[in-house]
Amino acid sequence: MKFTLRPHHILDIIVQFGGKGMESFQPHPYGHAVHTVAQSILGNSNCIVKLVAEADDICAPCKYLSPERKCTDVITAVQPPVSKQDYNDRLDQQILSILTIEPGTELLLDKYLKLTFIHFNDISEVFVHPNQDGNQKARDFLWGLQQLQYDIFNDLEKLFLE
Ligand code: SF4
Repeated sequence: MKFTLRPHHILDIIVQFGGKGMESFQPHPYGHAVHTVAQSILGNSNCIVKLVAEADDICAPCKYLSPERKCTDVITAVQPPVSKQDYNDRLDQQILSILTIEPGTELLLDKYLKLTFIHFNDISEVFVHPNQDGNQKARDFLWGLQQLQYDIFNDLEKLFLE
């Protein structure tokens, strides 16, 4: 199974899973595919993710995606409000840069999650909105990984030995 995903969308899913649980993934008024993608990838760490800094499989059914595959929504959590397309493109480029991954790279989800864990301090610098509680977001992310039965220390050891 393969998904084309924005890196931060995967992180959002882990944070939501860690903070609110599986039952929180319900259809959203936007019509996007967070709930279906989450149900497909959580617990399926052997799936392949193509990491992109553009509209992805979650955006595909969203009512805010234009025919040109651009997000027309606006982020009002930062002031002044900014284009969500521009904000997300920049965020995903920053995350990929921190992980030294080229846009379009395909990876096992498992490997991507371990890399994000290793670099989570740096990722947190760009992943947390100014009005969000970064510590809570980090706790939810780590709890999400733990719920997925990642044994962080064993997994890290394996990653460095690969
Ligand atoms: S980034 Fe924009 S198009 Fe994609 S899911 Fe979010 S609101 Fe919809």
